[in-house]
Amino acid sequence: MKELFAGVILDMISDAVDKSYQYRVPSQLHGIVQVGCRVLVPFRSRKLNAYVVSLEREKVVSETRDILKLVDPHPVLTPELLELSAWLAERYYNRHIETLRLCLPPAGERVKACFEEYVLPLVETELLLEQSALLRKRALRQSLLLECLAHAGEDGLAWSWLRRKSGAAKDSLHALVAKGLVKVSEVQRERAPLPVPPQNGGELLFTREQALVWQEIVAGLQGKSCPFLLHGITGSGKTELYYRAVTAALDQGRTALIMVPEIALTPQMIAGFRGRFAGQFALLHSSLSPGERYDQWWRVKRGEARVVLGARSAVFAPLENIGLIVLDEEHEQTYRQGDGPRYHARDVARWRADHHVALLVLGSATPSLEKYKEVKEGKVKLLELKERVGGRPLPSVQVVDMRGEFHRGNRGIFSRPLLRSMEETLSRGEQMMLFLNKRGFSSFMLCRSCGHVMQCPSCSVSLTHHTDPDHLQCHYCGYRSHPGKACPACSSTFMRDFGLGTQRVEQAVHKIFPKTAVLRMDSDAMSRKDAHRKVWDSFKEGQASILIGTQMIAKGLDFPNVTLVGVVAADITLNLPDFRAGERTFQLLTQVAGRAGRGDKKGHVIIQTYNPDHYSIITASAHDFHTFVQQELQRRELLLFPPFGQLLLFTCSALDENTAREGAAALRASLEAQITLTEKEELMGPTAAPLQKVRDYYRFQLLFKGEHLECRNQVIRDVVWKLRGKLKNTRIAVDFNPLMML
Ligand code: ADP
Ligand code: ZN
Ligand code: ZN
Repeated sequence: MKELFAGVILDMISDAVDKSYQYRVPSQLHGIVQVGCRVLVPFRSRKLNAYVVSLEREKVVSETRDILKLVDPHPVLTPELLELSAWLAERYYNRHIETLRLCLPPAGERVKACFEEYVLPLVETELLLEQSALLRKRALRQSLLLECLAHAGEDGLAWSWLRRKSGAAKDSLHALVAKGLVKVSEVQRERAPLPVPPQNGGELLFTREQALVWQEIVAGLQGKSCPFLLHGITGSGKTELYYRAVTAALDQGRTALIMVPEIALTPQMIAGFRGRFAGQFALLHSSLSPGERYDQWWRVKRGEARVVLGARSAVFAPLENIGLIVLDEEHEQTYRQGDGPRYHARDVARWRADHHVALLVLGSATPSLEKYKEVKEGKVKLLELKERVGGRPLPSVQVVDMRGEFHRGNRGIFSRPLLRSMEETLSRGEQMMLFLNKRGFSSFMLCRSCGHVMQCPSCSVSLTHHTDPDHLQCHYCGYRSHPGKACPACSSTFMRDFGLGTQRVEQAVHKIFPKTAVLRMDSDAMSRKDAHRKVWDSFKEGQASILIGTQMIAKGLDFPNVTLVGVVAADITLNLPDFRAGERTFQLLTQVAGRAGRGDKKGHVIIQTYNPDHYSIITASAHDFHTFVQQELQRRELLLFPPFGQLLLFTCSALDENTAREGAAALRASLEAQITLTEKEELMGPTAAPLQKVRDYYRFQLLFKGEHLECRNQVIRDVVWKLRGKLKNTRIAVDFNPLMML
């Protein structure tokens, strides 16, 4: 019999073993070991799990040892996912084993079966609502229980969820059972990842704009099509189109994958999909418990769930025969995983759509420049929804110049126009949101008199202020300068570090409106798992008039009673030390504005800033995406930033500051020795990272900017891998097109 060999990737995270090893397949395993199988192999003096990535007749090393055994009866990885993980390892400079693990079934055995108490309605919806109304005065809890159930449909609801939602205790439930309105039963359930009640919607009649988009989607589902970029302002009816497209894909006998940036912020959409695709629906995201994850993943793998909704990691769902992939809010940064194995879910979605000849729909109210450029190049087709459903008008936007406030002696957080609007909103009994981007990891200097911000002359990003020793630095090219006493533009001495937190805003509000109930939502206040929803719920129920928060409140739900949105300091986003700062500002302002006036009442938005003339602010306040894109694309092209150029960020870190700095210098020297830079390439640094010390490690960076860095892939890999072997005390990380320069 001819000999057979297997190329395997060892299940061990280490740079030293990050390559394919050849083992012999013993004759009794011929025909059994397949590509994608998990096997046990001897390695040095140990036994390790490994994944078969190839089968070969040729022996490529002189000594091969035998595979010991097969670990699972069937392959755990499909050829598609094997190929995908190899591509991700290469493209993003990951270790191959890490990208393989992204595609594997969740670890752990099936944890013990899960029983849950379910409350099921025994009478029709109308009767439930009628009884709910009757009980409203006498027995509020019972009334609320019935109301929830009336909206849930025949499947009923988990008691654990109902209890939390209605605040009712067991005796309220027993009272309803005694009245013969509901029954309780123990149901063995798939562990449900989020107990949102399903929400069914009838088929709405499409608006004129939706109907046009729908024609394109129908055509796109018929065969090979380029991806679609669905540019639709918030509330223009994108989600409604997604539902319909998924139905169409299922009708073709194919499956569908829906990606959202963050599960916690999309309860309405989850409810909508669960309601429409009940038995065929699975939810996948990283904060599932191991048992939940296990159940959901295998339902998809077995083909029971044909519609998967999930956040970033769900893009690796083991779906087969995919007909449709929707990536909502395609511009969101959460799609990019920055550590562990690095990848961009949007790229992975694109790859899988190509592989399955599936239709890829990228939705956004503020498309990324990357995708917009592809539209201009004819690689992606643009579909637009320019009106809100029902013709609800976009909110009016007012930009307040904080320099003027400063000159009039107002040193407070709120400008007079914002204060006036707050008073009016409260007096009408309506609600407002006050938005403040998280103060970044770094500080920048801003002149409160003229709005001037210290920037790098060659990279046009703001300089980061370091205090020890006192200096300003550009984290792209390493340019350094001194923070002078006076503003270089107007000589004012009010040149200060700029910073403001949500807590301070909350205090200021309390001081001015002591009787008004205020809620705050930021990552500090939100450490508990369910905290988000609690805040949303109480705000929605009108328990507070003011919600203060960070980016979290910029997206998500409909609040019909919110008529005012205040952006407390647009400058914080505008001056992130990041070439995308302008784009981020535009996106955030647009999203925030989308929160106002979702109901029948008209919304008003006030943006406070020291830079009212910045194009991001001017275009966002005019809801003018096209002008913004044009300006921003020009700027990027000039500086060769993505999407025109690509970036590779090398971070060298070590426990000792000098070791880290020298590591970065050595890396630079090796790269220079191997690569002759073209005119369109630039190697910058070493420079201290914006976050210079993380968990005791000092960090220095190099930045490689160029037009086609993928051509440099192999050389760079070799240089880095060699240097890693040489510099034992220095870690070297490589990041392709990073979102942040941390
Ligand atoms: P988006 O996803 O673009 O923010 P949605 O799809 O959520 O917008 O639609 C916004 C609101 O309009 C939702 O309440 C939705 O049910 C409603 N809606 C969408 N399409 C229609 C339609 N054709 N007719 C009536 N209402 C619609
Ligand atoms: Zn100034
Ligand atoms: Zn610079």
